[in-house]
Amino acid sequence: MDNYLVSARKYRPSTFKSVVGQKALTATLKNSIATDRLAHAYLFCGSRGVGKTSCARIFAKTINCEHRTPDGDACNQCASCRDFNEGRSLNIVELDAASNNSVDDIRALVDQVLVPPTSGRYRVFIVDEVHMLSTAAFNAFLKTLEEPPGYVVFVLATTEKHKIIPTILSRCQIYDFNRITIQDMIDHLSYVAQQEGITVEQSALNVIAQKADGAMRDALSIFDQVAASSMGNITYASTIDNLNVLDSAYYNRLLEAFLSQNVPDALLIYKEIRDKGFDSHFFITGLGSYFRDLMVAGNTSTLCLLEASDEAKNAMAAIASRCTPQFIYKAMDLCNDADFNYRTASNKQFLIELTLIKLCQLLSPSPNSGDGEGQLKKIEPVAQSSTATPAYQAPTAAPAATTPPTVQATAPTPTPAPTPTYSPASRPVMSAPAPQAPRPTAQPTTVRRSASPTATISIRGKIAADTADSPSATATRVELRNTPYSDNALDMTWETYIQSHPKSHILINTMRMARPQRIGEHLYLVKVENPGQQALMEQALPDIMDHIHRSLGNDYIKINIAINEGDAAPHTWNEREVLNHIIETTPYFKTFCEDLGLKLS
Ligand SMILES: [Zn+2]
Repeated sequence: MDNYLVSARKYRPSTFKSVVGQKALTATLKNSIATDRLAHAYLFCGSRGVGKTSCARIFAKTINCEHRTPDGDACNQCASCRDFNEGRSLNIVELDAASNNSVDDIRALVDQVLVPPTSGRYRVFIVDEVHMLSTAAFNAFLKTLEEPPGYVVFVLATTEKHKIIPTILSRCQIYDFNRITIQDMIDHLSYVAQQEGITVEQSALNVIAQKADGAMRDALSIFDQVAASSMGNITYASTIDNLNVLDSAYYNRLLEAFLSQNVPDALLIYKEIRDKGFDSHFFITGLGSYFRDLMVAGNTSTLCLLEASDEAKNAMAAIASRCTPQFIYKAMDLCNDADFNYRTASNKQFLIELTLIKLCQLLSPSPNSGDGEGQLKKIEPVAQSSTATPAYQAPTAAPAATTPPTVQATAPTPTPAPTPTYSPASRPVMSAPAPQAPRPTAQPTTVRRSASPTATISIRGKIAADTADSPSATATRVELRNTPYSDNALDMTWETYIQSHPKSHILINTMRMARPQRIGEHLYLVKVENPGQQALMEQALPDIMDHIHRSLGNDYIKINIAINEGDAAPHTWNEREVLNHIIETTPYFKTFCEDLGLKLS
């Protein structure tokens, strides 16, 4: 993470020309500077990491520059520019409204506004996250915003334009920043790599750019992380490994299996993915996103909706040309259903495998001429009767006898409980007339299970229209979830983890004593007492993080474990904690309390 600061700062743009991905906007700003038509208040809107604050700083520097370049950029050489670049100019004042949002903070700002510049022409006041100002602070600000002294320019920045009250909006010139496109990010990362002497594969940069989700700052930080761990040689393989991204080659291979109606292949690929340690839910939503990408890539007019490098877009378009829209829509629908039912499914692996089987059957000839209902009827009998067997075997073009062994080969996966029930039951079912030798009792269970998810299939007519811009569909397989959450909510998930592991006594005791404390935007610190606890926590951390990320829907959260070095005042236990500790660490006392039904009140 040290490198992160280096690159994000080192390559922070210092002129409008070097701002990534905001050409039209910077051109307009430059033009208004060149023609000396400055507004006294600007509002910069856009998501995080797209360059709002950087542009505000460049703007402040440029309007104060003593000799601007012919194309309207700051010279970076005059005394004023040097002051700006070295962070000691008095003509720029920044206020982060996220942490300074009171009336008093605004009054202090307004007081500063009254001080004219000692050198240069303008003083620029940047108010970041301006939507966070309290209503009272907003009101205290309005008058000054409306009629500031001639030497003052306000630049307000926000990630949430809709939260800005109309009275502020109407007083500002508004600039909407774009999300940075994948191609722009790749170009900039290539440039940074070249400057740093790092070799890169373009496909790796594509993955990094997708993971950064439109924010250049994030792209640079991920880039640094990957560069650091791959010793200056960023390959596609090292990148997906480092970022825990599922190789898109898996999805391509699965598509081949679906197109050739090859169920065994599909199930085996799924097993490979699980063996690599990928979560099934992550996998199925990724598969859904893959089909969504295929859908938009399949039509030249929607190709622009695909967030990828030009190279990747063309590759996707070529793959999409092999699929019919109907196939893709139904595939998306099946993935969506699996995603929807995932949380409540008692046997999650089964749900995914069934979905994969249905995906393999989408192209098999339907007795009812292929409308949605026809597909439904055809799919349902798979595990129940022999009627589905021909469709299932068709692509292999092999005699019927080959099927059972193939299916069996996929069955003995290392995953615990569910598999044994699945394999013996499905084998006799697949070769319908065969005796139900191994475990006849298991069969009814399996049939019932398979029937219930099937009943939930619905092929909605409007899906084609909806998916193009629905937020869930635009989530790509490498996108990080970033749902807002509170410290309290995080603490709750910490607690739910504790409660769902009642048998891991030492771990949960440690977790009870050491709660996460926020130390950064998404960064928390857990202080433990000794190296033993630290090792224990480090070991459990991936599982805990998985729980937290999933519960809160936010993949940015990070937790560091550190040993409490006693720098702060030592924690003094209150009576309750002492008693709790005794109960937790003294088994016979615990039993004693439980026997008597004693509880701490
Ligand atoms: Zn200058």
